[in-house]
Amino acid sequence: MIKIIAQLNKLASDTVFPPVCVNCKSSIPDQKQFLCQSCFDEIRLNSALYCPKCMSRLPGTDKCHDTSYVLAPASRFEAPIPSLIHTFKYKKIEGIGTILCAMLISYLKETGIDLSRYVITFVPLHKSKFRARGFNQAQIIASVVSDYFSLPCLDVLKRVKNNPPQAKTKDFSERIKNISECFQITGPESVSGKNIILIDDVSTSGATLNEISLLLKKYGAQKIIGLVVAKA
Ligand SMILES: [Zn+2]
Ligand SMILES: [Zn+2]
Repeated sequence: MIKIIAQLNKLASDTVFPPVCVNCKSSIPDQKQFLCQSCFDEIRLNSALYCPKCMSRLPGTDKCHDTSYVLAPASRFEAPIPSLIHTFKYKKIEGIGTILCAMLISYLKETGIDLSRYVITFVPLHKSKFRARGFNQAQIIASVVSDYFSLPCLDVLKRVKNNPPQAKTKDFSERIKNISECFQITGPESVSGKNIILIDDVSTSGATLNEISLLLKKYGAQKIIGLVVAKA
């Protein structure tokens, strides 16, 4: 019975939703490919870390401006990346998560950073948002990346204020205000003395990564890398 239902569902979804590229909507042979070849070919990976303040490329993990973290964006927020991130964020399509994780892993390898002394953590969702969505895309990415590099993945951050999404707050000072005191740390002893890779899907103003990095440093964290799929 289940098999028949699965077949009917497949038939229905193929009929109603023929496979299309999640970015340009052109027809593709199989929905599991998510992107057409030309959109896939548009994906460009970075190879360096950046100063989050002036976006200068950094040599290794050295700093340029005095910032709480260095930014590690695997790519730019340009097509087809926004479509991939958006689809993953709201629909949790595993295959798209795999593409995003593969991008982060290839990029991290390309930077040549010695990751052996790092632990991984991720930007949390407020519990009401987590409940509504059922998952945290940053947590899923963090768990895949940490498994790949055999690094510990710490679940130690809590979002205590459910603020309007960053995209809806326009200017930088408003974003800083919006984000301040949004987060708490639940396992302070586990971050003390550690180098940390803090994962989110996208960095826009950088206010979230900055706020969490300051918090982690307050509890003794050493170097912090803000690892994101893309810098918007
Ligand atoms: Zn396409
Ligand atoms: Zn700088």
